Amino acid sequence: MKFISTNGNASRATFREAVFSGLAPDGGLYVPEQLPSLPRDVLDTLASETLHSIGERIASLFIDDIPTAELPRIVEKSWTFPIPLIHLNDNLFLLELFHGPTLAFKDVGARFLAHALSYYLEQAHQKITLVVATSGDTGSAVAHGFFEVPHVTVYVLYPSGKISRLQEQQMTTLGRNIRALEVDGTFDDCQRLVKQALSDADVLRAHNLTTANSINIGRLIPQVVYYGWAIAQWQKQLSIEGRASSNPAAPTFVVPSGNFGNLTAALYAQAIGIPMHSVVAATNANDVVPDYLRTGVLTTRASIQTLSNAMDVGNPSNLARVQALFGGSIDAIRQHVSADTISDDETVAEIRRTYDRTGITLDPHTAVGVAAAKKMKSMEPTIVAATAHPGKFPEVIERALGFQIPLPQQLEDALRRPKQSTLLSNRYADFKKLLIGSPEA
Ligand SMILES: *Cc1c(COP(=O)(O)O)cnc(C)c1O
Repeated sequence: MKFISTNGNASRATFREAVFSGLAPDGGLYVPEQLPSLPRDVLDTLASETLHSIGERIASLFIDDIPTAELPRIVEKSWTFPIPLIHLNDNLFLLELFHGPTLAFKDVGARFLAHALSYYLEQAHQKITLVVATSGDTGSAVAHGFFEVPHVTVYVLYPSGKISRLQEQQMTTLGRNIRALEVDGTFDDCQRLVKQALSDADVLRAHNLTTANSINIGRLIPQVVYYGWAIAQWQKQLSIEGRASSNPAAPTFVVPSGNFGNLTAALYAQAIGIPMHSVVAATNANDVVPDYLRTGVLTTRASIQTLSNAMDVGNPSNLARVQALFGGSIDAIRQHVSADTISDDETVAEIRRTYDRTGITLDPHTAVGVAAAKKMKSMEPTIVAATAHPGKFPEVIERALGFQIPLPQQLEDALRRPKQSTLLSNRYADFKKLLIGSPEA
């Protein structure tokens, strides 16, 4: 399997090359040259598979430069947490993707990328240094994903005083191969420092330097896996209830979306043969994609701040991958994807309604998905991707329900551990001195 650029001006890359470069040299995003098919025998026996066995089967369709004997090890090290499918009410189910170390679905992809990179580095007797600028959540997913992963050192740059205490503690209390740099400046300063380092010959002589941004194909392929795992659990539940039939209705998937990586993974899952009735993107007020599907014209905008802030994206990068999948045809995209927008008021109302009816607390991102699912008034079974743990958003939950929910253990622990960070000015010379003065771990 080779990967090609959405811009069409880069040579075909192996998975390894695509993962190490992140962005293709022509500025495009790497996509599979063609979508493989999951063999019939795997599809027929999905209900008897495990998360890890489905992970191996799907990963090996896309990745042919890691030996088949190694993939199970990478899969097992990456997903040490469950991804359960739970019944919400009526025909609605939640796929809980948030049981990893940072309590959000990004752990699933970040950890697989970390262990795949580590495998390649081990083979080549190489080390690597990752530099990541973060405004909050990406930094902690990457930091936790790479924590104690051999051959990798991570520098996370975050703007001092501009992220929440919870976010800061999640990034700064790991230590070992994770180095938190607290920059006296803004998120844009952090990004500028990272970009400058990535093109500085002196730094590149001292470090095998790269970044780990969200457009890396190595974070996307593993996300295909959990759609297969959702169907496996769904079929298993049907058969336990004695409702299995030879041709069960395929569920609809609703995906709370910002950069549309998770939605792209759902479409890849459908393309390789995972049964899905349809795929729905749920957005907050950042409705660039719903607008695009309606009008056929893509108008990107500055992002608007909402309660589901990990989805505040005005220029969704993975849309290029969706367009590439359907040959750029808006009509073909419309046949496979529908979209809806949910306001902050509707989000808060949905958290309240779901709690009153089921006792389950939704985080604001998942609430956007559940509200969109209910608006469809579909009779089909519907699975909503639950992307974050509600405990990460105490203010929103308090506003919706009028009380605080207990912090999850992971966050309690992070709050108790001592913060370890290095203060840094926003001058590039200081960052450069720090990088060159620190040998690779
Ligand atoms: C990143 C994120 C999203 C959006 O996912 P995309 O793949 O960028 O569309 C949704 N919910 C949560 C909690 C996230 O962290």
